[in-house]
Amino acid sequence: MPIVSAIGKDDIYFEFLSYSPWVFRRQVALTFQAGNIFLAGDAAHSFPPTGGLGLNCGFADVHNLAYKIALVHRGVATPSILSTYTAERRGVADSYSKQSVRNGKEIFTLLQSLNTAGVEDAMQGRKNMMAALADPAQRTQVEAGIESQREHFDNLELHIGYVYGATKPPPHASRYSPKFVPGARLPHCWISFPGHLSPEAQVAKSSLLPQGPLMCHTSRSLVQIRFALASGVPSISVAPTLGV
Ligand SMILES: Cc1cc2nc3c(=O)[nH]c(=O)nc-3n(C[C@H](O)[C@H](O)[C@H](O)COP(=O)(O)OP(=O)(O)OC[C@H]3O[C@@H](n4cnc5c(N)ncnc54)[C@H](O)[C@@H]3O)c2cc1C
Repeated sequence: MPIVSAIGKDDIYFEFLSYSPWVFRRQVALTFQAGNIFLAGDAAHSFPPTGGLGLNCGFADVHNLAYKIALVHRGVATPSILSTYTAERRGVADSYSKQSVRNGKEIFTLLQSLNTAGVEDAMQGRKNMMAALADPAQRTQVEAGIESQREHFDNLELHIGYVYGATKPPPHASRYSPKFVPGARLPHCWISFPGHLSPEAQVAKSSLLPQGPLMCHTSRSLVQIRFALASGVPSISVAPTLGV
C-alpha cells in the first residue's frame, strides 16, 4: 500500500481524514488580471509537478508584478503598465504547462524501461528497477528511457531563455540560448572589441551595472527610452546588432 511504503513502517496507525483525486492536466487562466485583482502562482496556472516548474513560475509572476505595482505606487509609471502583466507572464506559464505535461507523459517511457510502470508495491518496483539496470540485454532500452528525461530535468531554456511576447514554447527546453532582444533576460557575456571599448564593454568591465532593477532598452525603441527616463529605473541602451 503506497501510504505504508511512504511511512516505511507498517505498525504506524493512520486514518484518512479527506482526500481529493489528482487529475493529470494543465490549466492556464485566460487572463491574469481583472481590474485591480491579479492572479499569480497556482491560482493563475496549474500543471503537473513533472519538471519542477510550478513554484518557479509563480515566483517569476510575482517578481514581474511587484516592480510594476511599486512603480505605479511611487507615481513613476501609469497604471497602464499593469496591463502588461498578463501579456508577459501568460505565455511563459502556457509553455511551462505544456512542457510539464510532456514530461509527465515521457516519464512513463522510463518507468516502462525499468519495469516499474503500474507496480504499486514500492519494494517490488525497486527490485524490478535494480534487475533492469543490471541486465545487459535491457541496457539500450534503459538508456533511451533515461535520455527521454533530458528536457524534464535539464531545462534552462525554460527558466531563463524565455522571451516575453513569444507565442510558442521553445523548440528544446535543454538548449539555452542567450537572446539580446526586448523581453528577454539580459544575457551574460564578456564583450571585447579590438582596439576600443564599447559603452557596453565599459559597463561590463567596470562592473557599473547597478544593483536592483535595470532596464535594458534597444536604441531603436523611443517608447522604451522615454519610459526608462521617466521611471527613474537605471537603464542601459544596447545595440541589437551585436548579435550576442
Ligand atoms: C508533488 C509536487 C511537487 C512539486 N515540485 C515542485 C518543484 O520541484 N519546483 C517547483 O517550482 N514547483 C513544484 N511544485 C509546484 C508548487 O508546489 C506549486 O506551484 C506552488 O506551491 C504554488 O504556490 P502558490 O503559493 O501559488 O499556491 P499554494 O502553494 O497552493 O498556496 C495557496 C495557499 O492558499 C491557501 N488558501 C486556499 N484557499 C484559501 C482561502 N479561501 N482562504 C485562505 N487561504 C486559502 C491554501 O491553503 C494554500 O496555503 C510541486 C507540486 C507538487 C504537488
